[in-house]
Amino acid sequence: MNVTELIKALAKVEQHVHIVGSVRPETLFCFANQADIEMPFKTVEEVHEFFRFRDFPHFISVYTMVVNCITEESQFERITYEMLEGDARNNVHYVEASFSPADHVFKDLEYNRMLKAINNGIRRAQADFGIKCNIRIDLVRNYGPEIGMEVLNWIEGENDNVVSIDIGGSEHKYPPKPFEQVYSRANEMGLHLVAHAGEAAGPQSVWDAVKYLNVEHIGHGLAAVNDNMLMEYLLKRGITVEMCPTSNIKTGAISSLERHPIRTFLRKGLKVTVNTDDPSMFGTSMNDEYLQLHSKLNFTIPELFSLSLDAVDSSFLPEKLKMSIRETFMKEYHNLEIE
Ligand SMILES: [Zn+2]
Repeated sequence: MNVTELIKALAKVEQHVHIVGSVRPETLFCFANQADIEMPFKTVEEVHEFFRFRDFPHFISVYTMVVNCITEESQFERITYEMLEGDARNNVHYVEASFSPADHVFKDLEYNRMLKAINNGIRRAQADFGIKCNIRIDLVRNYGPEIGMEVLNWIEGENDNVVSIDIGGSEHKYPPKPFEQVYSRANEMGLHLVAHAGEAAGPQSVWDAVKYLNVEHIGHGLAAVNDNMLMEYLLKRGITVEMCPTSNIKTGAISSLERHPIRTFLRKGLKVTVNTDDPSMFGTSMNDEYLQLHSKLNFTIPELFSLSLDAVDSSFLPEKLKMSIRETFMKEYHNLEIE
């Protein structure tokens, strides 16, 4: 096997992927037609063109358009199933997928029905491809802590496969501190705690997420690299940094992959995972992420495999399941016969 084939064959875990950011252009086209919504595209090819990332404002307009095209709760089953089908093709065994229910509840969809549809997609994908998936609920920081509390009420009513909360959205405008009580309540509810931080804003945003929200994982975390004390603190607390290299290049958080700080984090001994974030909108996949790390930052196959194992260990699965997934990963790895 050549390196590309080996990378494809490596077992993987994806921890940071947004369900809506995974919708296939074909699927979006179908939803738009069904709902008879006026769209800036007339053919599937034009949807592909529309999806092609240009800049951050364009990304937001694509994201908003996708949210507008989802007009029935049941559509989440197809989106989730197709996301997992794509991940399974990349030999991903387990996914933690983010869902931002408030975006859709504000468009008159029901939380419980959406969660059921997502879980139907998860169950079908597991039956067809053997892939497992749990759900992270993104409270979306732009909606503020009151809506955050409201979303926790929804989770209390229906939490099938929900393992954690997260806050995505505009990091500059909505810092973590006001969400302190929301996170403390989520912790009491037995949910794991994650926050996007240090992607668009500086190290203070990461400090606030770890100090006020007690997070176990940081989404992106790039800005921490400029603050040695923060890096030490993340290490001491055993906080995992979920990196999304292609996303960082596309959004302009990093100027090129060669300049991505992932190796600095690893050298410090921090636990790092590699993820796609929004695979449809950034035109990426788990295989692509690993391939890029290999070609641009000289990651070897054993180094990439160690990222996979870290993603198993730092996932929000119960210990027993982690052990069995780890065993499967090791078995598959040995079968690849890498010296
Ligand atoms: Zn994200």
